[in-house]
Amino acid sequence: MQGLMQHGALTVDKIIDHAALWHGGREVVTRSVEGPIVRTTYGAIHDRAKRVSNALLGLGIKPGDRVGTLAWNTARHMEAWYGIMGVGAVCHTLNPRLFPEQIAWIANHAGDRAIFVDLTFLPIIAGVLHHLPTVEHVVLFTDRAHMPADFKPAGEAPNFKGLLCYEDLVAEHSADCAWGGFDEGTAAGLCYTSGTTGDPKGVLYSHRSNFLHTLITLQPDVMGLSQKDVILPVVPMFHANAWGVAFSAPGTGAKMVMPGAKMDGASIYELLDTEGVTFSAAVPTVWQMLLQHLKESGGKLPNLRKVVIGGAACPEVIIRAFQEDYDVEVVHAWGMTETSPVGTLSVMTDELEKLPYDQQMPYRLKQGRPPLGVELKLTDDAGQRLPHDGKSFGNLKIRGPIIAAEYFRGAGGRILDDEGFFDTGDVATIDDHGFMQITDRAKDVVKSGGEWISSIDIENIALGHPKAAMTAVIGVPHPKWDERPILLVKLKDGETATKEEFLEFLQGKIAKWWMPDDVVFVDEIPLGATGKIDKKLIRQRMKNYVLPGLAAATVARAEEAAPEPPPPAALAAADGAQAARIYAPEPEEPLSEPPPIPEPEVVEALAHADADAEAEGATP
Ligand code: ADP
Repeated sequence: MQGLMQHGALTVDKIIDHAALWHGGREVVTRSVEGPIVRTTYGAIHDRAKRVSNALLGLGIKPGDRVGTLAWNTARHMEAWYGIMGVGAVCHTLNPRLFPEQIAWIANHAGDRAIFVDLTFLPIIAGVLHHLPTVEHVVLFTDRAHMPADFKPAGEAPNFKGLLCYEDLVAEHSADCAWGGFDEGTAAGLCYTSGTTGDPKGVLYSHRSNFLHTLITLQPDVMGLSQKDVILPVVPMFHANAWGVAFSAPGTGAKMVMPGAKMDGASIYELLDTEGVTFSAAVPTVWQMLLQHLKESGGKLPNLRKVVIGGAACPEVIIRAFQEDYDVEVVHAWGMTETSPVGTLSVMTDELEKLPYDQQMPYRLKQGRPPLGVELKLTDDAGQRLPHDGKSFGNLKIRGPIIAAEYFRGAGGRILDDEGFFDTGDVATIDDHGFMQITDRAKDVVKSGGEWISSIDIENIALGHPKAAMTAVIGVPHPKWDERPILLVKLKDGETATKEEFLEFLQGKIAKWWMPDDVVFVDEIPLGATGKIDKKLIRQRMKNYVLPGLAAATVARAEEAAPEPPPPAALAAADGAQAARIYAPEPEEPLSEPPPIPEPEVVEALAHADADAEAEGATP
């Protein structure tokens, strides 16, 4: 028997409709890419988003077409999102921090027909447009006064019809446009994982999954947002949908503060302070920059009540600094592009909250518990469930209506197990309070003597050393143990330290056999396109590194084999200082292998596959 309630498709246009009708005067403040702080409201965003929809329809964009954005967090970017999604087209957020070749690969794979772009990123588009046969229109997020006089693609782009001015389009089109009216399973957004393993893969969100994710994140024990909040999403809209904030903030009527292109400590602090921000969300590296700035400037955070920190493990020093120095609650969260992205949050249970703060800390450092709507399991490699005892390491798998079922165009084949769970590629434990802890990415875990060492644990503890600015742990080959961990440290400005100082600091804080075999001091720890430590690049840079104890043996063996000078790599790795030189050579190859730009035939074949899918009635 069916229930007798209204169905009401869960489409995201209803979110901005609601914001405009019931919170129409609520402000959205942006540090504009052109410079000044600009102010608008949900009412105006709604009106302008409708005009964007009409402009897109005028350009021939149809439901299911992909429309890219290459842009910072701004009110204009939000207008474009709702304008694209409202008419059933798919908003494809491109990540400008990727190499241009990767952006081109992704735009081609998506088959974007138009791209909205910020002034900052126009040179990227100009440089790759002749490799983008599906792109017909580029809309520049600016006004007539800031339009470049002489835009020209770097090569011939036969299908490109011209550069359009966003403000002209908005002014020229009517705000009368019907939104929605399609199935809630219709695709709304497309976001590619950064491809730390293999080619980037597209996660195709539906209106329903975004709507449900919004309701999930609004729960008090998730983000707990209210119309009284002033929300600053530092996490970019191109990084897993700004963790849903561009939906949840209008969904609840909170004021929004958009940081535009400036995410350094001083710029973020200025917005937190002048706009009275109560809630913010970002990756740990952003908060480190802010805390550093506060320390130097003596700034205070009287309005800020809560920050969500995720995307990478949050170090204890950050949680303590916020709580103890500024009285700001930190919610440590875990998620991924494939999970919309919120998966778990470390919100204290009633029982844990009664413990003294120091005893809560081990739980605050974990990635936390899943909200209603998200199911988790831990399995061994054979797929058998593991106990929630806080010790058993296993593959973390996840299921629910906000989790990807497959990648765009079937990339990577089947991605769910027999029970419909998606394998996150993370290795985790779950304790008897239900707190999940990521011990590593499956590919970053250090495998030593058949046991697993968590690189994340060691680097977070080492980051507690007062001289450390950034730390990273990788496994390096070892003939007996398979792999051993080494610690890379970037020191704070002006500091010097010895390897022994760091090893002593770790004594007693980690198991003896977890102790790094070497400490290498480096000038820089590279970050990837989503602001996380790029271990793939570090491993690539350290590929000639040999552990200190082994270096002598390698040299001796090399001398035995040929009375020639030993191989330079073995010599150079004989001490940490020299290892640092291997680490930062003039790069002989690109920082990481960008995917090749598909040939136009491939793109055409993909376009045909699309048309076939549409003909069969599948959502594109
Ligand atoms: P990618 O970096 O692969 O492009 P995402 O941005 O979706 O993709 O990152 C998801 C991954 O980031 C997770 O699988 C996990 O490894 C890592 N991650 C996210 N949040 C946390 C966290 N709080 N602690 C540790 N790792 C995290």
